[in-house]
Amino acid sequence: MSQQAKGIPVSDGIAIGSGWIYHPVTIKVERYQNQVPEFEKTRLETALQQAKSQIVQLQQRTRETIGEEEAAIFEAHALFLDDPEFVGAIKAIIEAQRINAEAAVEEVVELYVQQLLSLEDAYFQARAQDIGDVGHRLLCCLLGVSPEGIDLPEAVIIVAEDLTPSDTVQFERSKILGLCTVRGGPTSHTAILARSIGVPAAVSLALQLGDLQNGVLLILNGTDGTLTIDPEPQELAQARQSQDQWRSHWAEQVADAHLPAVTKDGRTVEVVANIGSVMDARQAIEYGAEGVGLLRTEFLYLDRQRMPSQAEQINTYREIFEVIGNRPLVVRTLDIGGDKAVEYLGTKSEPNPFLGWRAIRMIDEKPEILRDQFCALLEAGAGFDLRIMVPMVSSLDEVQQARQLFDEAHQALRTTGKPMADKVQFGIMVEVPAAALLVEHLAKYVDFFSIGTNDLTQYTLAVDRTNERVAHLASPFHPAVIRLIAGTIQEAHAKGKWVGLCGEMASDPLAAPLLLGLGLDEFSMAAASIPVVKQTMRRLVYRDCQEIAATALKLPTTNTVLEYLQQVKN
Ligand code: PEP
Ligand code: MG
Repeated sequence: MSQQAKGIPVSDGIAIGSGWIYHPVTIKVERYQNQVPEFEKTRLETALQQAKSQIVQLQQRTRETIGEEEAAIFEAHALFLDDPEFVGAIKAIIEAQRINAEAAVEEVVELYVQQLLSLEDAYFQARAQDIGDVGHRLLCCLLGVSPEGIDLPEAVIIVAEDLTPSDTVQFERSKILGLCTVRGGPTSHTAILARSIGVPAAVSLALQLGDLQNGVLLILNGTDGTLTIDPEPQELAQARQSQDQWRSHWAEQVADAHLPAVTKDGRTVEVVANIGSVMDARQAIEYGAEGVGLLRTEFLYLDRQRMPSQAEQINTYREIFEVIGNRPLVVRTLDIGGDKAVEYLGTKSEPNPFLGWRAIRMIDEKPEILRDQFCALLEAGAGFDLRIMVPMVSSLDEVQQARQLFDEAHQALRTTGKPMADKVQFGIMVEVPAAALLVEHLAKYVDFFSIGTNDLTQYTLAVDRTNERVAHLASPFHPAVIRLIAGTIQEAHAKGKWVGLCGEMASDPLAAPLLLGLGLDEFSMAAASIPVVKQTMRRLVYRDCQEIAATALKLPTTNTVLEYLQQVKN
C-alpha cells in the first residue's frame, strides 16, 4: 500500500524518483569548566576566521551556480560572525563562566534563536534558521568536523527535516529531482532554491523521516504539495501522465515567451531581464528576454580584498555580452556603499546607510572607480548594443559629472586605438524623488531613464526597504509613487527620451495595465517572470489601459489603487 503525505506546495511540477533522506552532521557539545579564558578566546577567533572563509567560498559557489539573490544569504551569515554584540556575548560567557568556547557558542546561539522564534513572524523564524546555521558552522570549525561534503549517489528527490542555505548549496544541481521538507514555509531556503533551479518542491510535509528508507520510490507533486511514498503501479502511471502534461504546458509557456509583448490593439513594449551574473544572462534568454534592462554589477566587487582588475572586468562583461548577443544590454554602474560594506572601496558603517555614501555619491572621493568601469564596459562592449546607466541620481551636477567621466573614458580609450562600443546610450536611474521631479532638466544629458521602484518607493514613503516592521507601509502602488512614475514618463517623452522600469513592480501582472497605460516603453524583471508578464500584456488593450491609468492616478490611497486594478483585471 502506498502512503501519502500532504504539505505546502512551493515550486511547481512533478518529480518521480528515488528518495534520499538527508541527515545533517549532528554534533554534541560537551561543557568543560575551569578553562583558561584567553586560550578559549583564541580558539574562538580562529574558528570565526575559518567559518568566514568557508562562507565566502560558499557565497562564490552559490553566485556562480544559483544566482546573486541566493548568494546574498551568505553575506548576512558573514556579517553575523562580525557582529560585535554576538561575538562579545560569547567572549563574556567564556570569561565569566570559564567554560570551553564550544559550550559558550552553543549557549549564545540558542539564546538568539529562541528570542527570534518567540517573535512568531515568518521573517524572524527564517532568520532563526540562519543563525542556527551559522552557529552550527562555527561549532564544526571549533570541533574540527567538516560540515561540507554532501555527495548525492544519483539524481534523487531529497527529503529532509529542514534545509539550511549551507545544506542546499552542497547538493549538485543536476542531481536534484525535487526537494521536500518536514519544516519550512513558502519563503524558506528550500523554496527559494527549488524555484531558482526549477525543480518541484513541497515543505511542511506531515511526515516522519524515520519511516523512510533511502532509495524508496517517491512521487513529489510540487503543484498540490503531496508526496506519495512507494506508489502503486496505477498511481505511478498517472503521475507519469501528469508529468508529461505539466512539462508540455511549461514548454508552451516558455515557447510563447519568445514572442513579442504586443497588446490586442498593436502596441509593443520591450520586455527585458534583470540579471546579476553570467548564469542569469543565460536564463534570461531561455525565458524570452529581449535584452537586459538592468545588469547589477556589484557581484564583481564583493567578496574580495581589492578592486577587480581592468582585465577581469572586461572578461566578465564580455562573457555576458556574448550570451546576450545583439540584444540591448543596460549596465548599471556600481551601486555599493552604505549598507554593503566593501573595505577596499572605503565604505564605513553609517547610522542611515540608505541615506549615505552610496552609488553615484562615491564619484567625488573615488572617481577612478567609475572611470575604470566605463573604460572596461566600452572595451568589452565593442560590437554590442551597450547602454550604461548611473544609479541613485539626485541632482543635475551628478549627471554632468558622470557624463564628463564617461566622455573622458571614451576619449582615453580612443587614443589607444582599441576597438570599443560605439553609439552607447547613456542613462540614469530614477529612484530618488528629486530625480523624478527634475526629469525635464536631466533629460538634456541622458538618452534614457530607468525607474527603480524599489528605491523610489523607499525614498518617497520614507520606509527602509530592509525593515520588516514597516514593510506593510511600502508599496509602489501608493498614489505618491504612481504620480512620480507618471510624471517621469510624461516629462521624458516630452523631451524625446525613452523610459524603462526595473524595480520589482515591473514583474507584477497587476501593474501591467497601469504601467502600459502610463506609456512605459520597457519592462525589466527577473527572468522567471517574463513568460507570465508577456502573456498578460497580450491580453490587454492599450487604449483601455490609458483610461485605467488616468483613473488610477486620481485615487487617494494604496488600497483604492489596488482594489481598482484588481477590479479591472477581472
Ligand atoms: C530599484 O531600486 O528599483 C532597483 C531596481 O535597484 P536595486 O533593487 O538594485 O536597488
Ligand atoms: Mg535601487
